[in-house]
Amino acid sequence: MKTGEELKNLLHQIDHKSYKAYKEVKGTYRMQGYVLIVDHVQGDPFATPSRVRLMISNKNNFPGEVFDTKWRKTAAEDDILRNLHGFLRKNRGGKSGSGKSGLVLACRVGQEVMERTAVELSEEQIEVRLEVGFPAFGRTIAAGELEKIFFGMFPAMAKEVFCYANINKNKLKRAVELADNQQKIRETLVEKKLAAFVADGAILPRESGVSDLPLKKAVPFTSPDDLAVTLTLPHAGAVRGMGIKEGVTLIAGGGYHGKSTLLKAIQNGVYDHISGDGREYVITDASAVKLRAEEGRCIHDEDISMFINNLPNKADTRHFVTENASGSTSQAAQTVEAIESGARVLLIDEDTSATNFMVRDHKMAMLVAAEKEPITPYLSCVRSLYEDHGISTILVVGSSGAYLSAADCVIQMDEYEAKNVTARAKEIADPYEGIQVEKKECLHHTIAKKQIDKVRAFGKESLSFDREEVILRDLEQLNDEGQAAAIAYLVQYVLTNYADGRKNAWELTELLYQQIEKKGFASVIPVYYGAGAPVMPRKQEVLAALLRYRGI
Ligand code: ADP
Ligand code: MG
Repeated sequence: MKTGEELKNLLHQIDHKSYKAYKEVKGTYRMQGYVLIVDHVQGDPFATPSRVRLMISNKNNFPGEVFDTKWRKTAAEDDILRNLHGFLRKNRGGKSGSGKSGLVLACRVGQEVMERTAVELSEEQIEVRLEVGFPAFGRTIAAGELEKIFFGMFPAMAKEVFCYANINKNKLKRAVELADNQQKIRETLVEKKLAAFVADGAILPRESGVSDLPLKKAVPFTSPDDLAVTLTLPHAGAVRGMGIKEGVTLIAGGGYHGKSTLLKAIQNGVYDHISGDGREYVITDASAVKLRAEEGRCIHDEDISMFINNLPNKADTRHFVTENASGSTSQAAQTVEAIESGARVLLIDEDTSATNFMVRDHKMAMLVAAEKEPITPYLSCVRSLYEDHGISTILVVGSSGAYLSAADCVIQMDEYEAKNVTARAKEIADPYEGIQVEKKECLHHTIAKKQIDKVRAFGKESLSFDREEVILRDLEQLNDEGQAAAIAYLVQYVLTNYADGRKNAWELTELLYQQIEKKGFASVIPVYYGAGAPVMPRKQEVLAALLRYRGI
């Protein structure tokens, strides 16, 4: 390890030289109050910024109780990262010169509390990962500016943000306690056989289609009395809310009455939210998968015969392959994939579903003979999925009464107010006609080892692997662009390290998560990640990305 003095001398030597000379800065240095590791130096001033890590001692610093469980650790790291953003905003990210020159960037944060590699707390140390735009005037090194960052800004940051004595301890305590409460709800869901919990007072709608902040002046959620459960939380006492039981639950109601908003909040309940979000106590079984139509996706040798048979081109739907799925075949594939991934709850909104996948009415069944209709609608399978396989469904239906007969519970959204209309629905429902479905292994495609050199992520929209695009746009539970960046690296990791032509996408995903469980998230992410700061995704979204990659 070199000293800070040596770094200073080096910076003086390369000052005003051509930008390439910055490469020499790569290395590890003992600085005042922290250790600096320069992992990657950008090639020119306009390239993706350089990457550095700071190691700050955690001896006699952050107390063990803020990171002694997995959820507390994630919550504490999240809180510290948010403080870091505050510090960087105040210091204008160190910006000087043109472009990204002098910019110091930390992993972005949204409304969710997620595991990120940006800040990592352990007994020994706090590890912080940052991007730094190494300063330049034109293409000439401006080393004095970098010196200000390493010798001025970073020591101040270490003191202000990473020194427990100087932070807002109450805010951190509240974040950790919120995580305890959320964890308690997750545990209670299992005990009480609930698929989801939506607390009274929750603010479900978001500010706009492009803002995840809570809508101001929203009508807070209130549970109907006969669906209410009261949970006792360690730091909040009794919290009342709507308990959605396992089974088949419909969310009905007129257009624009808040049905999709409720379902969206539920699908996001697989993640924990920060204080002030409004969805702090909207918690859903973490394995829940939102299903939707996704025309045009690829399907690699999957058994979708639970829903689709006798296609006009005689395609074998037990080994279905397509480069261009239809609405119904894509939704069928996503459903069997979710089941294979162990999803205990499936979420569907008729707004984003293929109608012919969802229902087929009597008149149409009379007109078109059964053998000419390849689709067994979801309606026919929904009860068996629950009764025989323990897989619950929560679905939004505003237009088709056919599902009333399949439902255990019907919630009506009426001017944003939830009402339990199950009894009335039972009175008017037709008898249920379903079939028994069998759970089979559906992912037949085994994946061969593949070398990928260049990965990129384009927000949450898509990834590219050596220029081949993977569309993620329709993965509604992929909530953070950092998750997309992580998935890019995880898929790359899996294809080079685990794929051997014998395992399918789910088996590869499982192996990956075993490794993460054992060695941590950082162990499967490269130190230098040009595609963006990685945020831990769920297994379900990693699987989804693998299955949407045409190059396997
Ligand atoms: P639906 O699916 O029933 O047609 P949406 O859930 O899309 O209705 O909601 C319609 C509109 O109402 C959206 O703009 C949404 O933001 C707003 N909204 C939903 N819930 C609430 C609420 N609790 N308070 C205020 N506005 C809401
Ligand atoms: Mg809707």
